[in-house]
Amino acid sequence: MSSIKIYAPATVANVVCGFDIIGFALQDPNDEMYMRLSDKPGVTIRNLDDYNLPTEPEKNVAGAALLAMLEQLPPGTGFEVEIRKNIKPGSGIGSSAASAAGAVVGANALLDNKFSREDLVRFAMFGEKVASGVKHADNIAPCIYGGFTLIRSIFPLDIIPLQAPPLHVTVVHPQIEVRTSDARSILKQKVLLKDAIRQWGNIAGLVAGLTKGDYALIGRSLEDVIIEPVRSILIPGFDEVKQKCAEAGALGGGISGSGPSVFMLSESQSTAKQVEKVMAEVYTRIGIDFHTYVTTVNNGGARVELV
Ligand code: ADP
Repeated sequence: MSSIKIYAPATVANVVCGFDIIGFALQDPNDEMYMRLSDKPGVTIRNLDDYNLPTEPEKNVAGAALLAMLEQLPPGTGFEVEIRKNIKPGSGIGSSAASAAGAVVGANALLDNKFSREDLVRFAMFGEKVASGVKHADNIAPCIYGGFTLIRSIFPLDIIPLQAPPLHVTVVHPQIEVRTSDARSILKQKVLLKDAIRQWGNIAGLVAGLTKGDYALIGRSLEDVIIEPVRSILIPGFDEVKQKCAEAGALGGGISGSGPSVFMLSESQSTAKQVEKVMAEVYTRIGIDFHTYVTTVNNGGARVELV
């Protein structure tokens, strides 16, 4: 039986003003997964890394996503999955989404692409529910579709892939833990009308800037007056990083997912590298270990190759 390898990319969700609705895929890092159909019904998972993630299918996001798919398949169907996580769980760059999305993209390839991309997002959201308690698609959708995606609605699912000009991305992952539950519980449940108006102006500006390839408009629209002022207190050095990255020429950026990673978009690679330098300076001085990535937007999404 054929065996395939899947590269499932990291993703940035909650793109500044686009909280819960806009995400994009990164060229690096990628989880690596190997999959094949199995005579043993159900899902068998093996880890190829040291993160000690659960291998019971209902507790591993890849397994939960595949179990949702199996409900639509003939009884007796089985998948074997091996996962090597290069995206650290809890980093805020879509570690859980990469495993869930990678698993269903791989399974679909083994099944001669029986399902649509939208079906795959629906299955993979069962994985996100295991990771964070709620179904959301702003990491899953870009991981499967590639590029920037707008999730206009979850129920019913309405995904709009967005055109975007070439963009360079710098990510810093300070090695601290921000619990998704904390990041969620500190959010206010009400917003002021004046803030809402400013936010939806920015979201519309961001979408228009991306589709028109207008870098200045993208930069002006990368402003979040609702979530970031509250959440950024969980990330040491956030305000300084943001200010210094702007001085270094970044278009803008903010908290990736629910943190602790912070991302910045730039028009050129040289600016993206300069941004990495200032991020590193801030965290070195504060004395927090960190990891950085300088990469681009991945327009293809999770990728499958025969092995
Ligand atoms: P991220 O924002 O980086 O995706 P999350 O907090 O959303 O991080 O997800 C990580 C959580 O999901 C962890 O609690 C982890 O134990 C759990 N999990 C279960 N299976 C996996 C998997 N295959 N990959 C990543 N995380 C997983």
